[in-house]
Amino acid sequence: MTGSTVTGTDSGVRVRFPPSPTGDPHVGMVRSALFNYAFARHYGGTFVFRIEDTDAARNTEASYAALLDTMRWMGLDWDEGPEVGGQYGPYRQSERSEIYADVAKRLKTGGYAYDCYCTAAELEAARERATAEKRTPGYEGTCRNLSAEQIEKYKAEGRTSVLRFRMPDKPLAWNDLVRGEITFAPENVPDYVLVRADGSPLYTLVNPVDDGLMRITHVLRGEDLLSSTPRQIPLHEALIELGLTDRVPEFGHLPYVMGEGNKKLSKRDPEAAFSYYPKRGFLPEGLLNYLALLGWSLGDDQEIFTKAELIGAFDGTRISANPARFDLKKCEAINATHLRLLAPEDLAKRILPYLAEAGLLKGDAPEGHLANDQEWNTLLATIPLIQERMVVLSDALGMVGFLFVSEDAFTVDEADAAKVLTPDAVPVLQAALAALDTLPTWTSTSIDEALRAALIDGLGLKPKVAFTAIRVAVTGRRVSPPLFESLELLGRERTLSRLRAALP
Ligand code: GLU
Ligand code: ZN
Repeated sequence: MTGSTVTGTDSGVRVRFPPSPTGDPHVGMVRSALFNYAFARHYGGTFVFRIEDTDAARNTEASYAALLDTMRWMGLDWDEGPEVGGQYGPYRQSERSEIYADVAKRLKTGGYAYDCYCTAAELEAARERATAEKRTPGYEGTCRNLSAEQIEKYKAEGRTSVLRFRMPDKPLAWNDLVRGEITFAPENVPDYVLVRADGSPLYTLVNPVDDGLMRITHVLRGEDLLSSTPRQIPLHEALIELGLTDRVPEFGHLPYVMGEGNKKLSKRDPEAAFSYYPKRGFLPEGLLNYLALLGWSLGDDQEIFTKAELIGAFDGTRISANPARFDLKKCEAINATHLRLLAPEDLAKRILPYLAEAGLLKGDAPEGHLANDQEWNTLLATIPLIQERMVVLSDALGMVGFLFVSEDAFTVDEADAAKVLTPDAVPVLQAALAALDTLPTWTSTSIDEALRAALIDGLGLKPKVAFTAIRVAVTGRRVSPPLFESLELLGRERTLSRLRAALP
């Protein structure tokens, strides 16, 4: 940020995250939520979660629920908002209609807004005229000072009216917390509609009104909203003059998030959907770390950090004005790093839901647990074998699924089988069966020794050839955790039965 800074720990900072519950939450939105959250927590301030659901036609209850789930999954707890309440509630705009009607009335009575009776056809004609005369099109203030007679006449004609905000005739400037001094010329910001003819309030009214009434001190939001700021500042000033709030918030506009080919990350990009991340098994820690880097840096090239470190450092400086590039590969690498930092039990616990979802657990676990003792112990024993190789939690399925799948459901990958389980593999599998059948102890070391003696020394095979055949027969794939440890965990009986099943 280049603008003013915040001082003190109990600074009275109040920030907000005000999504509209339409469609699936996307990562750009979560980035905004995260920046506001980290800013609030850094200054010991208040994080307000507000639902902007005035557009009844587009809002869905499913999207609202997904928003709350998203925030909870990310660990972005809010101090005021849905299900939590707070002194400036309600926090769903659909429950605040009376407030908006009242503010609209005061704005009109105070002369800050006026009824506009222009028809769509008249506005369109004005727009065409402006374009033809090479002027910037926009509302020309036609109804700014209508006489009582004129209004009566319009009403008699059956015209309806919208409520328009009367923009002041002065340059509109603010010191953007991210982008520095920004100025709009008044002719570029015409009077705009606050309330529709049917009385329903628009975003243009409800968003700044709520920011004002909820005493928001800092508005950190995406750059796509930059052009609404010059309209909103005079509305805040009007609210102050009306005694409804006490300050204009500071504004900071977060840089665009770019996807492939230098285009803005769009809802069509699969990695733009937030739901992609929990589904694949990203960790909240990993996604939070990556999203924080979209337009911010901790400095000193430190790319890996925890939520606590983010909060400690997020003072509002070092937010970049340059577009941020969304890079899934980097997101994965950061996630993998966080995954390696987990304690083994913690990682195992987080893998369980993916095994359960894939139907790989027996379902006979005691109340509240996903895995029974045996499944849990098996999983825990695999962690040292897989933790370094995983990028996301669902990777565990391919790596250790063969240990959990029942024998009648076990299958070998077809392509791998075609390549590896050829007639040449038959003597290998037979020799392995013979060697393992009579092995006195079943440990990775004894399995290792027995297979080497039988296949490398006995048959004179190269280790890669010999062990790949066994790996495919027993784990079902050419890539698996270390072989001998895998066989130990699988147990003798299941190992032998899979070797037999692989024979023609
Ligand atoms: N409901 C608006 C949106 O989701 C909020 C914009 C803002 O942060 O002011 O785009
Ligand atoms: Zn008009």
